Amino acid sequence: MSAQPHVHDHDAPDGLVSVEDARQRVLDGIQPLAPLRLALTEAHGCVTAEDIVATIDLPEFASSAMDGFAVRASDVAGATPAEPRELAIVGRALIGHEPEGTVGAGEAMRIATGAPVPAGADVIVPIENAVVEREEVVRLLDGPTPGTHVRPRGEDVREGDVLVPAGKRLGAPELGLLAIAGHATPLVHPRPRVVVLSTGDELIPPTESPEFGQIRDSNSSMSFGALRETGAIPVMAGIVRDDVQSLRETIFSFEIQADAFVSSGGVSVGERDVVKAAFFRRGEVEFTKVAMQPGMPQGFGHVEGKPYFGLPGNPVSVFVSLEVFVRPAILKMMGRGHLGRPEVTATLTEEVRGPRGKLQFARVEVRREREGWVATPTGARGSNLISTVARANGLAMIPQGTDVAPAGAKVKVMLFRASED
Ligand code: AMP
Ligand code: MG
Repeated sequence: MSAQPHVHDHDAPDGLVSVEDARQRVLDGIQPLAPLRLALTEAHGCVTAEDIVATIDLPEFASSAMDGFAVRASDVAGATPAEPRELAIVGRALIGHEPEGTVGAGEAMRIATGAPVPAGADVIVPIENAVVEREEVVRLLDGPTPGTHVRPRGEDVREGDVLVPAGKRLGAPELGLLAIAGHATPLVHPRPRVVVLSTGDELIPPTESPEFGQIRDSNSSMSFGALRETGAIPVMAGIVRDDVQSLRETIFSFEIQADAFVSSGGVSVGERDVVKAAFFRRGEVEFTKVAMQPGMPQGFGHVEGKPYFGLPGNPVSVFVSLEVFVRPAILKMMGRGHLGRPEVTATLTEEVRGPRGKLQFARVEVRREREGWVATPTGARGSNLISTVARANGLAMIPQGTDVAPAGAKVKVMLFRASED
C-alpha cells in the first residue's frame, strides 16, 4: 500500500493541457447513470434508456368527431334537404361508455363528440343536418360518404409503433403521448444528485454579515443554479473549512446521497493539499493546469467511484468551469447526446485583451442585429468580477495564440442563456 495520496500533478512548466483535452479527460471518466423507471412527472426532462413501443392502437376505439347521429352511409346516400331520409332513433352513444346496442339498417343512434361509434354505423350525420320528427324518428338532410366525422381507431398510433426512441429527452409532448398510451413509468436516466460545497476559512453564508476579511459564499449558490439549469439535483453541503478532516467528513457524510460532487476553492498553491489529501485511499482527484483563462487549475477525479469536480475558488473561474467541464459531464450522466451550448459567430464591438498562451473566455453581451450577431464585453479581464458574468449572456472564446482581439474581429461565442430575460 502506498502511503501517498493517489494524486498526480501536471505542474511542469508549459505543462498546460488544452481545454479540449481536459474536457475529453473529464468526459472519458463519466458514464450515464443506470436507468430507472420513474413516474412521468419525475421523468420529465430525462432521457429515455430504451425505445418505448406502443402496446395498443391510439385512439383505442373509433369515435365521433361531431354531435349528431351515427348511421349507415348506405341508408343516407343521396339525402338532401329536398329529399331527406327518415331513420328510427334506437338509442344514444355516450362519452366514456360502451354504446347501448348497434345500428342496423334503417336505424340511427344519437351520438356525442368523442363517444365510441356503435357497431354497424360507419358515418356521423351532424346535428345541423338532422331534424327530429318525433321522439323516435329523425329526418337526415345530408348523405356523407362512409367514414365522414368518424375518428378511426389507430389513426394516431399503431400497436408496435415506436412512441419515443431511446436517447430522446422527455418534454411536454412526450409526457402527453406516454400518458395516453399507458406508459406511466418510462425507463430513463435519472437526474444526478450533485453535492455542492465551498471550501475556505474566509467564507460565511450569504445570510450572515461578514467580519472584516470574511466573504459571503458565492460559489455554492452559483453552482446550485448552474446544476439545476443543467437538469441535475443539487444537494447543498455548505461551507467547509480549509482542513483535510472537515472536507473528508463532509464529503463522506453526503456520499450516500450523491452521484457526483462539486467543490470550489482550495486548489491554489498552499491550500491545494486540502482537496488532494482528503480522499486518500477512497478516491483519486487529479489536478490539471488547463490552458484557459479564467479557470486554470482544475481538479477532477472520483471519490467512491463518483465523479468529483474540484473547481478553483474565484467565482468567475467557477462559473466558467461549470460551463466548460461540469455541465457537459452532467449532461453525459443524464444520457444526453448533445453536450454543448449553442454557439454563434459574433463581431466584437470593443477590443478584448487576453493571455496569448490560453483560451480566454470573455464575458460578453451578445445580440442579434441586422448585420448579424454582435458581442460587447461586459467588463475588464479581471477574473474576480462576478458582476461581469451577471451582465453577460455569452462567453466569447478568444483562441490560444491571440493576445488582442480587436474591435470588429469575429469571435465564437457560447450562449449560456436561452433568452434575453
Ligand atoms: P482559492 O482557490 O480557495 O484560493 O480561492 C480564490 C479566490 O476566490 C479567493 O479570493 C477566495 O476568497 C475566493 N473564493 C473562494 N471560494 C469562494 C466562494 N465560495 N465564494 C466567493 N469567493 C470565493
Ligand atoms: Mg480558498
